[in-house]
Amino acid sequence: MKTFDLDSLVRKNIKELKPYSSARTEYSGAASIFLDANENSFGSPLPENFNRYPDPLQWQLKQEISKIKGIPLQNIFIGNGSDEVIDLAFRIFCNPGKDNVIVCPPTYGMYGVGANINDVAIKEAMLTDDFQLDVEAVLNAIDSNTKLLFICSPNNPTGNNMNRMVMETLINNFPGLVIIDEAYINYSRQKSFIQELTEYENLLVMQTLSKAWGLAALRLGLAFASEKIVDLFNKVKPPYNINKASQQLGIEALTSINQVNENIKITVAERDRLQNELRQFEFIKKIYPSDSNFILIKTSDANNLYNYLSAKKIIVRNRSKEPLCENCLRVTIGTPLENKILIEALKNYKNE
Ligand SMILES: *Cc1c(COP(=O)(O)O)cnc(C)c1O
Repeated sequence: MKTFDLDSLVRKNIKELKPYSSARTEYSGAASIFLDANENSFGSPLPENFNRYPDPLQWQLKQEISKIKGIPLQNIFIGNGSDEVIDLAFRIFCNPGKDNVIVCPPTYGMYGVGANINDVAIKEAMLTDDFQLDVEAVLNAIDSNTKLLFICSPNNPTGNNMNRMVMETLINNFPGLVIIDEAYINYSRQKSFIQELTEYENLLVMQTLSKAWGLAALRLGLAFASEKIVDLFNKVKPPYNINKASQQLGIEALTSINQVNENIKITVAERDRLQNELRQFEFIKKIYPSDSNFILIKTSDANNLYNYLSAKKIIVRNRSKEPLCENCLRVTIGTPLENKILIEALKNYKNE
């Protein structure tokens, strides 16, 4: 097993960075008159005031997350969506024009976009035909400039979990930081890796409030990692990356876990039902197993079916250009009514 040296993984300029010190970082106590941040003391032209800068480290929101996830506050980072977590990982660890990262296509597009924006080379270790990680391909791709490995489980757009033992093997043998993206973990039969953080110091687990929590518009992406890694993210992030409205609404939403669990239950039941229903159509050649809130299907002609559904105002995602996904469409599980309308539309597909 390799030894993990966080210090040697971090870019020199980030190690030496003196972070911006905001007014709220320098004084966070209770005072009655705040004249230190050039805020507008008169208030906002709204029913509620948003004239004060928000908590830079979102402690109250983190407290609610901590309670639900069972993870200590200092191991939680909140990004402006998972997108910000991904971008920060590149900026903290990868020297532009020099370092590289490993991604395992077909997978979430933002890892590659993040790499391209930051001028970081991408090494692709394609998934196997059954959409599992190819251990040899990943290990062979590693060189002395490899900093990050992105694993998405359940994977988007394929929908399946990655084999857990394979993931453990990779974490144990990867010299850089392994980022496991668990955006869909609440729909999965596999348990999260966040309980393993004490086991692996080179692990960062991403989750999000955008999917099972139904808060995509608030942009609340979560990262769980060692305190040292979280400190690096806090140092590099924009001081007020999570706005006040998102913090408040996030806190409020996290008290409604029963409603969220109910919706997850319905989604999973609908996923099973939809998978069964889709079997009746001979133009659907393959229905891939799913541990997420969507199903990938291989069709006889993806473009044609996509256009047919669009004309009926039903929009699915055409993934047929992705590697290993020829003629594949990705269908999000909707409400029971939406799913019923989808099935009815599919029943009429052949007849037109
Ligand atoms: C939807 C999704 C996310 C969530 O992104 P946010 O920026 O948090 O909304 C992250 N990873 C994957 C693989 C996704 O599909």
